[in-house]
Amino acid sequence: MRALMHARPPDRFDPWKFAVNGGTLAGEWPVATLARFAELLHEPVGSVRWRLAGERDADGRKLVHVWLDAEPRLSCQRCLGPVTLAVQVDALLAPIAAESQAPQLPAQYEPLLAGDEGVSIAELLEDELILALPLVAMHEDERECAAGGYALPPTAGPAPVADGKPNPFAALSTLLKNPKDA
Ligand SMILES: [Zn+2]
Repeated sequence: MRALMHARPPDRFDPWKFAVNGGTLAGEWPVATLARFAELLHEPVGSVRWRLAGERDADGRKLVHVWLDAEPRLSCQRCLGPVTLAVQVDALLAPIAAESQAPQLPAQYEPLLAGDEGVSIAELLEDELILALPLVAMHEDERECAAGGYALPPTAGPAPVADGKPNPFAALSTLLKNPKDA
């Protein structure tokens, strides 16, 4: 399965030049190519549609506007089966050359740490997708959830694992104990 792309975007870009030039980049990449994001999922199926635009705000600050659209397949915390969520991101990133500059940014901008070699598009997308994931994913419709409408008993022992990997949300399962207890 290949994503449709007319021109292959570069792996990295200079966010300051990109902002000054009003550049645009876009693509549709398989989820499986975004490894840090993919490993948090039930299975890395589907693709991530993304677009980047270079912008400047009224103060002349250089910005990278990012839009993302994906339907990641997460693990339901009640039945451990797959649950597909819609994730959309529309964020303004302000490139900075050092972490120490982050606190000086206006609150509406996310820091985008960039070195001499620029910014990796894949790492940028991974960061934004991971931030956009809910802490706990569950089937909203009980009829779709194999755990049914019953509260799960408190789990004893280690959390279940899938594919031999620890469930990244396992630590949160304790928060879900006895949800119906009064
Ligand atoms: Zn479920």
